[in-house]
Amino acid sequence: MADTWDAIVIGLGSMGSAALQHLAQRGRRVLGLERFSPAHALGSSHGESRIIRQAYFEDPAYVPLILRSYELWDDLERRTGRCLFRRTGGLMAGYAGCEVVEGSARSAREHNLKHEWLSGADLRRRFPVMRFDDADAGLLEPDAGILFPEDCVLAQLQIAVAAGAEARFGMRVDGWQALPGGGVRVTTAAGEETAERLIVCAGAWLGSLLADLGLTLSVERQVMHWFEPASNADAFHLDCFPVFIVQRQNEPISYGFPNLGAGLKIGFHHGGAIVDPETVDRQVQPAEIEALQQSLRQWLPAAAGPCRRSVVCLYTNTPDDHFVIGRHPRHADVILAGGFSGHGFKFCPVVGEILADLALAGGTTHPISLFSPERYQTV
Ligand SMILES: Cc1cc2nc3c(=O)[nH]c(=O)nc-3n(C[C@H](O)[C@H](O)[C@H](O)COP(=O)(O)OP(=O)(O)OC[C@H]3O[C@@H](n4cnc5c(N)ncnc54)[C@H](O)[C@@H]3O)c2cc1C
Repeated sequence: MADTWDAIVIGLGSMGSAALQHLAQRGRRVLGLERFSPAHALGSSHGESRIIRQAYFEDPAYVPLILRSYELWDDLERRTGRCLFRRTGGLMAGYAGCEVVEGSARSAREHNLKHEWLSGADLRRRFPVMRFDDADAGLLEPDAGILFPEDCVLAQLQIAVAAGAEARFGMRVDGWQALPGGGVRVTTAAGEETAERLIVCAGAWLGSLLADLGLTLSVERQVMHWFEPASNADAFHLDCFPVFIVQRQNEPISYGFPNLGAGLKIGFHHGGAIVDPETVDRQVQPAEIEALQQSLRQWLPAAAGPCRRSVVCLYTNTPDDHFVIGRHPRHADVILAGGFSGHGFKFCPVVGEILADLALAGGTTHPISLFSPERYQTV
């Protein structure tokens, strides 16, 4: 058997490639194993764009982690010379008292984040292509913007490999085992590898690799659509249109992006079918496109042109919608990171830093108590 690695990372999607990067940067001998190709489109980290924002409606506890992510994304851009992040501003809007508006405002207040509060009339004046009424409100955040996910993953892999990590693709892990004297053994079709630490970042497949843990994860099929503007095409230009999250009564939350050239990417957040990642239907039906177009006709009709493309992506949800990051409750050498749902991407670099801390130092100074795997222990 080959020498023991300092750490093995299972899954080189957004979080695993970040973990590999941070471990390698700290001079460790690390191996990454990924069943598909670099920056593939079968998991949760593809589709041209991801929103990054600071005023976090989900919980203000995420804000310090986001602020650290901003620093680390800048650092990754500098190191690789790639353009990974584009500031466009972000609009969080909806009916009075809704989670998106109230939660964003609460985070902005608690953490003193730059933002502008907009009434329904302000929203109509600032964004004439969007239909808002007097009962609506919004928050405009100047530092929000777009991450380019495939390039981000490739940048993390590039730095990891340059720092000495080995990354193997087309290499599915079939199982792992904690060794009696400490450390772990990982099994693939190509054989076995051993390591002092194991970091499992398997995205939608996390539950199957940690079946003994009783994590309640559900994998949700989510569709991203690219629409041609029906009118006012100039209004959706990257230089003047923000990323947005809009919550309307009796509908799933919608999110979207300016036109990056291939059309306006828009989707519903949640409301998808619960699926098995091995057998998920990757075909998109006309009725799914029509449901979103129908909503857009009500409040953003200029975006409801023909649909150019629709792509399936996977959310991995926990019961409380918060991430799971921490040491395996029964195996101290095993660390897991998952349940990133539809809002994890912006955190990749800080999650990579946290995973390297947990693997090498046994703890982290980042605030992660909200994400403890212990909260799901049923026995
Ligand atoms: C439609 C959509 C929109 C989103 N929008 C946003 C957004 O605007 N902003 C935001 O911050 N987040 C967003 N997210 C969420 C974010 O993209 C995800 O939370 C994040 O990408 C999850 O990363 P991951 O590393 O857990 O999963 P992945 O990137 O999927 O990585 C898991 C990897 O593990 C590999 N793997 C699994 N099993 C094995 C095995 N046995 N052996 C080897 N390899 C294995 C998989 O092939 C995969 O590459 C969105 C997600 C979707 C789907």
